[in-house]
Amino acid sequence: MKKIMKILKKKFKNYNPKLKEECGVFGIANNGDASALTALGLHALQHRGQEGCGIVAFDGKKYHSEKKFGLVGDNFNKEKVLKNLTGNYAIGHNRYSTTGGTTLRNIQPFFADTNTGGIGVSHNGNLTNAITLRSNLVKGGAIFHTTSDTETIVQLIAKSKRVKTIDKIIDALFQIQGGYALVMLTQKTLIGVRDPFGIRPLVIGKLKNSYVLSSETCALDIIGAKFIREVENGEIVFIEEDKLNSIKPFPEQKARPCVFEYIYFSRPDSLLNGKSAYEYRKSFGVELAKEDNVDADVIVPVPDSGIAAALGYSQHVKKKFELGLIRNHYVGRTFIEPSQKIRSLGVKLKLNTNQTSIKNKKIILIDDSLVRGTTSFKIVKMLYSAGAKEVHVRIASPEIKYPDFYGVDTPTKKELLAANKTNDEICKYIDAKTLKFLSINGLYKAMGFEKRNNAYPQLTDHYFTGEYPVKPIDDLGDNKITQLSLLSTTSNN
Ligand code: AMP
Repeated sequence: MKKIMKILKKKFKNYNPKLKEECGVFGIANNGDASALTALGLHALQHRGQEGCGIVAFDGKKYHSEKKFGLVGDNFNKEKVLKNLTGNYAIGHNRYSTTGGTTLRNIQPFFADTNTGGIGVSHNGNLTNAITLRSNLVKGGAIFHTTSDTETIVQLIAKSKRVKTIDKIIDALFQIQGGYALVMLTQKTLIGVRDPFGIRPLVIGKLKNSYVLSSETCALDIIGAKFIREVENGEIVFIEEDKLNSIKPFPEQKARPCVFEYIYFSRPDSLLNGKSAYEYRKSFGVELAKEDNVDADVIVPVPDSGIAAALGYSQHVKKKFELGLIRNHYVGRTFIEPSQKIRSLGVKLKLNTNQTSIKNKKIILIDDSLVRGTTSFKIVKMLYSAGAKEVHVRIASPEIKYPDFYGVDTPTKKELLAANKTNDEICKYIDAKTLKFLSINGLYKAMGFEKRNNAYPQLTDHYFTGEYPVKPIDDLGDNKITQLSLLSTTSNN
């Protein structure tokens, strides 16, 4: 087995063994500026993925597609690019990927010609049975061009025996499992889908006579569209010209949106279930402060992810909030760099201490979450070398003990610090004076519920509890590469 693994790794050294993508999706119908507005929407969703971006537009006769590596603002800022993307309908995608093996082919939206016409697909999330489905499709003669689970959806749609495109889509949706928000474009219709539990987010907005679909409300704000409502769990919305219709074909389920959208992923100004992510995060900080009793001079956030929680904490304990760390905004998110070595370098590149506000101070350092511990490990060191007297690390979410399978890039269990170490061991590892996490009940309280068990809607919170709403069929362990070797590609384009 080891030998096979070695050969596979060598042969497919550019292959990305993770299919995880925490991406941004967007779509607009019935608008003469569809592609320019999509570019703006994607720009607002840039935090959801910076590896690549793409737009597919339909002009009534033909589809047009542009896919680029890098940021939306660097690629879709020119007349030249947008001029090619003509049409009143457009969908877009920001891709997030965490390991090497990047290829242009993996950048979305994907497009395929089916026997009922073309279809473009943008997908945020992760399917939990994509490998099993893909394996069956390959056995049946299907040829895959990408390593993304999204292509499985496209293949299932194309292969469906149903007559109408919409029925083909429903047919495919009944076969896939996991967390997904899809924005699709057929020749007549902009389509939005949210998985049966509503794990991944999708909202509906309106700009005059144009309906808009987006991962988050911040992308509605940028184009001046009004927020209408969230796409419900298990709902499919169809938009033709200025009309929106909806069906719910799946068996009824209680919604279980992903708690990590509240903790980390969504932009602070985006609305989640009626309140901004910022408000929730401030409340996580307040609740953390209520559960805490450490003495300190200043409250310092890890920028930018810990700012809202640190504000809440400092307002509750009535202690000074200081920007003791200054972020260089021209470096991407910590997780973007592929290897652990480069990732730790990333923290150094990204942050510097603001010496005058931390020297000789007892500091409470606040971040939204702790995953591998890379960020805290580096920052605690930096603060001490800048003269801090004491550093107490406080995390505004519970210990992450279980991996994710629905599109948030948390690593495998063996890399998750809290899955393998006790609180004291983690504290020692990051070299802090003390360490504390927000309790699970505190998290729910901060969201307005009494405690976890009574919470409705209950969130997808398996990171902390190990309770998975959709059992991962493909992959339960750490040994991902053998199972995925079937998906290998040597493409370098
Ligand atoms: P770590 O440094 O490995 O402990 O990761 C924690 C840091 O990464 C925190 O500052 C978070 O804001 C951020 N973070 C948490 N989850 C994710 C994720 N899924 N993708 C990217 N960054 C994350």
